Amino acid sequence: MHMLVRMARSLPRDPFPTIPSRRQFLKCTGATLGALIFGIARLPAPEKPPSPFAQRGYYITFMRMPTYGLAQWKDILDCCQADGANLLLLWMGGAFRSRKFPITWKFNEEHQNVRQDFGRELIAHAHARGIQVLLAFTPFGYDGVNQYPLEHPELKALKRYGQPTDLSGIYCWGWNLCPSHTGSQRFMREYVREMFFEFYPEADGLMIESSDYAICHCPECGGRFFEKEFEFVRAISEEVWTKKPGAKIVVYPHYFSGAPVPGFDVRGATLPFDPRWTLFFTPHSAHLDARLIRQARSSLWWDESPALADPAAIQRGARRARDAGVTGYVPSLEAYSFVPTHPEEGQKYLVGRRQVPLGFGWLKPDQHPYRELPLRVNRIAYREFSRQPDLAFDEFKQVLAGEIFGDRATPQAVNDLLEIQKVFARERSWSQASPLVSPDRVRAMKDGGTLKESKIVEYRAALDRVRQIEANYRGAIQPAEKELHRIARWMCDLWTGPDAALLEISQPVR
Ligand SMILES: [Zn+2]
Repeated sequence: MHMLVRMARSLPRDPFPTIPSRRQFLKCTGATLGALIFGIARLPAPEKPPSPFAQRGYYITFMRMPTYGLAQWKDILDCCQADGANLLLLWMGGAFRSRKFPITWKFNEEHQNVRQDFGRELIAHAHARGIQVLLAFTPFGYDGVNQYPLEHPELKALKRYGQPTDLSGIYCWGWNLCPSHTGSQRFMREYVREMFFEFYPEADGLMIESSDYAICHCPECGGRFFEKEFEFVRAISEEVWTKKPGAKIVVYPHYFSGAPVPGFDVRGATLPFDPRWTLFFTPHSAHLDARLIRQARSSLWWDESPALADPAAIQRGARRARDAGVTGYVPSLEAYSFVPTHPEEGQKYLVGRRQVPLGFGWLKPDQHPYRELPLRVNRIAYREFSRQPDLAFDEFKQVLAGEIFGDRATPQAVNDLLEIQKVFARERSWSQASPLVSPDRVRAMKDGGTLKESKIVEYRAALDRVRQIEANYRGAIQPAEKELHRIARWMCDLWTGPDAALLEISQPVR
């Protein structure tokens, strides 16, 4: 119901609102149209409390989505706008055609932005929709940057006992750099300068994402790794603020907190904090710090819930952010479409096969997943809970019902939709689809000895439920119900033929 009010209000004022103009008609669908035809007056207009978050939006790993061109990205931004976003953390490292360091994009030659460089148009499109864009990268690591040691192996970070750091990464496999080398510092400065000042000067700032998987343990870095990393962070920040005083620069708390850094046996530095920086906190790599949050003008909470989990998790994320007093909730909406060259997550079966974004195996490589029904559930959840973290879950379901199914919404349909969404989220990881929609993953589990019979029983029960949903919507005519049926049918079809044997139980389960 809230949704109807909001949508109706967003339409141009009309002294005779009972007959929609053609323009209004084209702009709205389903329930909104009903509200116009049958009179806006029947709708009460309760004021919603303002969102507790000044910054709303998503973290998207642009570099790991090589298959989408400008048209798809514009549409993705339109989705972000529909979700109430005003900020996009767009991961650009390794995804632009650097002239100074071509080695940084060699791994990503198929990326449409590497080929066509539409980043500026994309940023202009975001601005036209009221969305600020920060270019994300990792200092001394991760995509793009970790390719530099292919040409400069002497800059590799070192492990505790002096051997070079291991080859690792996601999609872009390479090596972290040692920030104590002047060559590493110079490379980082020149690479980011080129990205921000030469390629995308209209971007609103930078997101400097400290590595969550490797640091350097050489004698010079020692216990002072984050001081060394900060040399670059401070230098590039000052340079950006000199040329663009209003630029937003998002950094990790590790330079100021003095606290143990999650994942590493090292404490953060205790350098002075400049409140112009925006702080970034995550559940796994940068724990909330009340003292620093109070000092910062803005601070963001990230979690993985829209990309990997369900509406209840998104609500928990929004509440956690609100309770911590951060000014923004900008969780992940990552979806991969690259072809792995290494065993991501240790899984050999993934190598050489294009990643299936969010497990939606019916998509063609150039079709983005953000308008697909299961993800729309999480997007609507993000929009609603980032505005009202304490919204009752039943009220959220009503909003979802109206928006997806319109006037024909039934509680059953909403529950079935939530059930289908849960199937895709079940045991999903960054690089692997849910086993329920990936016979290949189940086969790998079986071959690896991790497919327990109790698990098979659970999977069979979940798929039985999908079969019921498939049966419930055979012959449906409402578009969303038809879509629900199509997806359930697609899931059922995955488990016919030889793959059905994967979920056979060989002996009674005790
Ligand atoms: Zn070092």
